[in-house]
Amino acid sequence: MVTFESFGLNEAVLKGIKDLGFEQPSPIQEKVIPYILENRTDMVGLAQTGTGKTAAFGLPMIQQIDTESRTTQALVLSPTRELCLQITSELKLYAANVRGMNIVAVYGGANIQAQAKDVKRGAQIIVATPGRLNDMIRRKLVDLSNVDISILDEADEMLNMGFVEEIDTILAETPATKQTWLFSATMPKEVENISKKYMTDPFRITVGNKNEGASTVTHNYYVVNQRDRYLALKRLVDAHPEIYGVVFCRTKAETQMVAERLIEDGYNAASLHGDLSQTQRDSVMKAYRTRQIQILVATDVAARGIDVKDITHVINYNLPDEIEIYNHRSGRTGRAGKTGVSLSIVTPRDQHRIKSIERIIKKKFIKLEVPTGMEVCESQLFSLVKKVQDVDVDEEQIAQYLPKVYEELGGMTRDELIVRFISIEFNRFLDYYKNARDINASGGRDGRGSANLKRMFINLGTYDGFEWNTLKDYLKDKTGLSRDDLSKVDVMGKFSFFTVLAENAPQVVEAFKFIEFDGRTISVEISDKPDKNTGGDRRSSGGGRDRRRGGDRGKSNFRGDRDRGDRGGRSEGRSDRPKRSSDRSDSRSGNSSDGRYDRKSSDKGRDGGSSFKKKFASKRSDRS
Ligand code: ADP
Ligand code: MG
Repeated sequence: MVTFESFGLNEAVLKGIKDLGFEQPSPIQEKVIPYILENRTDMVGLAQTGTGKTAAFGLPMIQQIDTESRTTQALVLSPTRELCLQITSELKLYAANVRGMNIVAVYGGANIQAQAKDVKRGAQIIVATPGRLNDMIRRKLVDLSNVDISILDEADEMLNMGFVEEIDTILAETPATKQTWLFSATMPKEVENISKKYMTDPFRITVGNKNEGASTVTHNYYVVNQRDRYLALKRLVDAHPEIYGVVFCRTKAETQMVAERLIEDGYNAASLHGDLSQTQRDSVMKAYRTRQIQILVATDVAARGIDVKDITHVINYNLPDEIEIYNHRSGRTGRAGKTGVSLSIVTPRDQHRIKSIERIIKKKFIKLEVPTGMEVCESQLFSLVKKVQDVDVDEEQIAQYLPKVYEELGGMTRDELIVRFISIEFNRFLDYYKNARDINASGGRDGRGSANLKRMFINLGTYDGFEWNTLKDYLKDKTGLSRDDLSKVDVMGKFSFFTVLAENAPQVVEAFKFIEFDGRTISVEISDKPDKNTGGDRRSSGGGRDRRRGGDRGKSNFRGDRDRGDRGGRSEGRSDRPKRSSDRSDSRSGNSSDGRYDRKSSDKGRDGGSSFKKKFASKRSDRS
């Protein structure tokens, strides 16, 4: 195993990494760090988003700084303010044990004089956005004549944002003898060109296929008609109650619109786009990081490179125009070895583009059906069951109320109680969704029908030590199916559900006939609820299915789940939608395995969430 220790990094830097909990270098770090430490060189580093490029250049850069001197010796250029701040705080952590190190962020939208003062105090490393740094150069607030290392981070994005001239001017202020390192997730021709322009014979380090999506990300798509896009989004969010996601839109206007509708509909959502002031963007990001916000709706530029941990889902509200962008989007999830899901909502017309994306990212998309109303209710129900299992009970505080509670409820049977408690929340979704229509667009262009799937039940769950991914492995092992043939593994306490191709269902049942777990017989059954995501036979199979009722009645009768493009429908829809106000966020803490999240979300409570929402709920009245 390659270790950070083997690279020749000094004690102080190693301690910083250790404190951060980095155990092993990532592949790009493994290649870049020793090379840079041993060679005085220009270099190009290409690797996917989320592979640890910041540390790849940051650690050797920090080591090469002379902290006795107060001159600016290293310059990192980054495309956006958010990234600039993110890199700065990351570098500060790496250098936490290096005495006398001064790292200063220079970016637009904040007081330039204050930044200049920080720089004057002796910033050996400046992390800057090109626009603001140029400003500083013009006003002679910064001296770059001693820069020995210049770094162009996220170079492709800096070009996309049209920073070439600024970069020209900035680099002209630095000595010709410096080293230049360029890092990028993609290598379009333009980056190739500037790498020639700014560097002499750069050493090139590529890790993986630079275009390939992370292998930890699953790609799914749904086909709906244009007018049902928003409804589809809502269903996807509702069907994943624990979602912590980013919804990508193509334009600022669309971003704003989607966020507003989500907020109106009671979700913890906010928008992030270029029209917000810097202060607003900061608050949004802060709220998102601390999980006061569950769904961030963002434009590509605004969300570029943002490193938020543990994002569960990226949702493409529509497919991006450029395939490269798809990669950047889906790279927001599945980071640092975690798994993630990238969902795309496409129209029948757009469906053919999935193929081109598949070719480039070298990964297959799975076509899924937008969950039916009843499937959403099922997800919500089991999420609730899970909450009941996981909730921390404060025995001491609750004790004083218990006698009264027992007095009131003592007459009910256990079963009655369970059903009633569960119904409190479940009813909201049921009311809203029970007659929801099927919004899957029929007949896609590429003729790729969705598979005929069966939902399976198994009597193993978290009590048996399983999580969705370990259960998936276990199922794979016992049934001989591949991971791709097993989907939607939802693990409850004592049992779980998963989905397989209908043709594989009998084989799965058979496989577990004689298998025991901890001396207990394993029971696997085809769940008699509607089989999910069925293709052609949807209408003819299974009598008495809710979905069919929904499909028939939905059009004339259902009030909430309709195209809300018309104003009349909107207010009606709002009044009968399930409330997802912030009271939901304090009860969900138990579901996270991340301790930090637990603490934060309960600290903030409902007021934090709702006042935040009010602040950004924005002026929606002008929408038509
Ligand atoms: P990139 O610039 O390639 O998109 P980042 O440098 O932003 O990626 O790193 C992504 C995340 O991975 C960051 O949160 C970072 O702290 C973390 N990380 C980087 N290197 C390691 C490592 N060796 N071990 C564990 N986590 C790491
Ligand atoms: Mg980066």
